[in-house]
Amino acid sequence: MSTSPDEGLLRLARRDLVEMPAYEPVEPLDILARRLGIPEDRIAKLDGNENPYGPSPKVREALARFPHYHIYPDPEQRRVREAIAEYVGATPEQIVVGNGSDELLDLTGRLFLSPGDKAVNAPPTFGIYEFVIRTYGAEVVEAPRREDFALDVDAAERALAAGAKLMFLASPNNPTGNAASAEELERLSAHGAAVVVDEAYAEFAGESFAPLAAERDNLIVMRTFSKWAGLAGLRAGYGVFPPAVAETIRKIKMPYNMNVAAQAAVLASLDDRAALSGNVGMIVGERERMAKALAVFPWLRIYPSRANFLLCQVQGRSATELQADLRERGVLVRHFDSPGVRACLRISVGQPEDTNRLVEALSEIGGAVA
Ligand code: PMP
Repeated sequence: MSTSPDEGLLRLARRDLVEMPAYEPVEPLDILARRLGIPEDRIAKLDGNENPYGPSPKVREALARFPHYHIYPDPEQRRVREAIAEYVGATPEQIVVGNGSDELLDLTGRLFLSPGDKAVNAPPTFGIYEFVIRTYGAEVVEAPRREDFALDVDAAERALAAGAKLMFLASPNNPTGNAASAEELERLSAHGAAVVVDEAYAEFAGESFAPLAAERDNLIVMRTFSKWAGLAGLRAGYGVFPPAVAETIRKIKMPYNMNVAAQAAVLASLDDRAALSGNVGMIVGERERMAKALAVFPWLRIYPSRANFLLCQVQGRSATELQADLRERGVLVRHFDSPGVRACLRISVGQPEDTNRLVEALSEIGGAVA
C-alpha cells in the first residue's frame, strides 16, 4: 500500500474512498448571503431546485404541536408508509422511507452493488448516482445521453446485456429537464437488472412510473417531498420497490432513518395536497413565463423542461463569468460544464419576483458577447 507520511489513520482506510472525488452540494443561504454581503431576503436562490413557497402551513402547525420529540421514531415508519402508499397508488409493503431520496439511492446501491459490479449511468445527470456506485466499489458504465438529452437506450441496453446489475435513471432528468418514456423503460427493464427511476420532479411533470413498480419485479421508483412539498431541509424521501426488495432494504437501513419531525411533516403535507398542488401549478406556470422571458437574450439557449428548473446554454460568452455576474447581483444559479452540458446554467424556478430579478440582472449584464 502506498501511503504518504501525513496521511495518518487514513492509511488504513479504503483507498477507493479516500481517492474518490467529492460530491458538490449547494451552499446554504446564510453562508452565501454573508459572503456576498447581501441580505438573505434580497437573494434570488435559484441554484438548488428548492420550492420557493416552502412547506404547507399545516406542516408548521404539526411541528409546533408534536408532543413526542423525546421519543424515538417508529423504525417501521408505519403511518407514513401507509399515507405515502395511498398517495402513489402502491401498497405500504412496497414503500421504504428515509432521510431524503438520496438515502434511498444509497441504500439501493448498498443492497445491489459489491466491488467489481457494474452499474449504468446516463450522464449528464444527477451526480449522486455516480457517487453511490463508486461508494460501493462498483464500476460506472456510462451510456451518455444524445445531444438533445434523450437516452441512448441502445448503449444502455448493451451495458445491461453485458451484465450490469443496476441502472440509475432520473425522469425528469436533472439537470436537463426531459423525461423518459414508457417504451424506453420497457426496453431497459426487459434485461432483468434493477432499473431505478428517480422521480424527484414527477409532480411537476404530472406523470409517474410508480404504478409500474407493482407489475415489474425489477423496477424501483424514487420520490421525494423535497421539491413539490417544500421539505428539502427536513429530508423526507421514499422509494417504491417490489415488496421483497422493500422488505430487505428496510432490514438493512438504520432503524431511525427518518426523524419524527420529517414524519409529521410528511403526514401534514399529504393532508394538504390541494394547496401544495396549487404551488406546483404556480411553479409550472412560472417556468413557462421564465422560459419566454429568457428567450429574449440571444446568447441563451433554453431547453424545454418538465421539472422546476430550466437548463440554459450560454453561447458566445463565458458561462463562468455570467454565473459570477449574476451572483454579484444576488441571483444564484448552478453552473455545469461537463460533457453534454458545456457552458450551461441550471436555473431553478422561483416566485415571480425571483424571475424578475433574474431578468433584470441579465439585462444589466447586457449583451457583451465575446
Ligand atoms: N434525485 C434528483 C434527480 C435530484 O435532483 C435530487 C435533489 N437535487 C434528489 C434526488 C435528492 O432529493 P432528496 O432531497 O429527496 O434527497
